[in-house]
Amino acid sequence: MPGFEVFGAEERREVADVLETGVLFRYGFEGARAGHWKARTFEQELADRLGVKRAHLCSSGTAALDIALAACGIGAGDEVIVPPFTFIATIESVLGAGAIPVFADVDLTLGLDPESVKERITGRTRAVVPVHMCGSMARIEELASVCSESGLTLIEDTAQALGASFQGRSLGTFGDVGCFSFDPVKTITCGEGGAIVTDDETLYQRAAQYADHGHDHLGADRGADGHPILGTNCRISELGAAVGLAQLRKLDEIIRVQRRNKRRLREAFATCERVSFREIPDPEGDSATFLSLFAPDEDAARSWTAALAAAGVPGCFYWYDNNWHYPRRWDHLRDLRTAGRSPLTLLDPAPDLSVLDIERSDRIISRTISMLVKLSWSDAELDSLHARIAAALED
Ligand SMILES: *Cc1c(COP(=O)(O)O)cnc(C)c1O
Repeated sequence: MPGFEVFGAEERREVADVLETGVLFRYGFEGARAGHWKARTFEQELADRLGVKRAHLCSSGTAALDIALAACGIGAGDEVIVPPFTFIATIESVLGAGAIPVFADVDLTLGLDPESVKERITGRTRAVVPVHMCGSMARIEELASVCSESGLTLIEDTAQALGASFQGRSLGTFGDVGCFSFDPVKTITCGEGGAIVTDDETLYQRAAQYADHGHDHLGADRGADGHPILGTNCRISELGAAVGLAQLRKLDEIIRVQRRNKRRLREAFATCERVSFREIPDPEGDSATFLSLFAPDEDAARSWTAALAAAGVPGCFYWYDNNWHYPRRWDHLRDLRTAGRSPLTLLDPAPDLSVLDIERSDRIISRTISMLVKLSWSDAELDSLHARIAAALED
């Protein structure tokens, strides 16, 4: 997910526009900003690129999830179905809303299994948050059907899958709201930033209000704005938006190169007969930020991970042991350890997160290895990687 690999003159030029005017705030200051509206322009171009009506930029991908949950009216005591294979931010946002994260299993797409989601629906379920991990898609169409049949809100965590699509439709546009991240390791980056996208004008307005202290942005200036709701500050600065705008304009090229490089990596891993690959419901729509594969069992996955590291193959992740992306090492979640006091402790009975029912996910993630696809590899480096990967996986 290497947008930082392609920083160049374009990013510098957009930032220079902002610094020359001195207007770092995304709203107002019409006279001083000399026509530069970086956040607004980024939002319009993002919405156009994704084929969605509205986009709202914010300070991070985590903020995007917070905003989405708030705008969709998810709150105290609501159950939200989430996958265990994600970044902890997905869960933190649910907890931050005062809602209860309920884990369903992932399948061989590494995304939520629609059948498992159905099993976890209760009378308190309000939303499902599928996560399109590592650049490829969950079974999003089936998940959307489950949500519409059960009257549940669908919020896509598309933080890792900007530019990916399913049957020609951008990921992030299947749900009521899609959430994106532009943090330092994502497909495009502006240091810190995120976005929500939606076709629903009311949701969009709620989101834009919530992300800016409830301002309705209708007054002639901020002093004249109405404040229909309480909100918070999840704003992006014009500096960040300027970098993101330049990066967005490189997205198609980034994905083209990732797909080419991923094909080369796949050939290398396919030399080992014991390797099988992640299921990708629409391979054409893969944004190709990672190659993910399965070893036959946990022992093989562990020994392959070690062999790849020993062979100097960079960027291989064994998620089962990772303390950001899988619950096995989330003791803070199990103990519901927050800085203050979680609203969940007020519920009767308080939800028990100490034991999670995710055995099917364990069986899959314990066999999964992902390798980051870089943009900057030369042909010679790809050849050398091929040789080292094939040698590392030889029995
Ligand atoms: C990166 C990420 C987030 C959070 O984004 P930030 O911009 O880092 O706050 C949320 N979900 C997933 C799946 C992510 O990878």
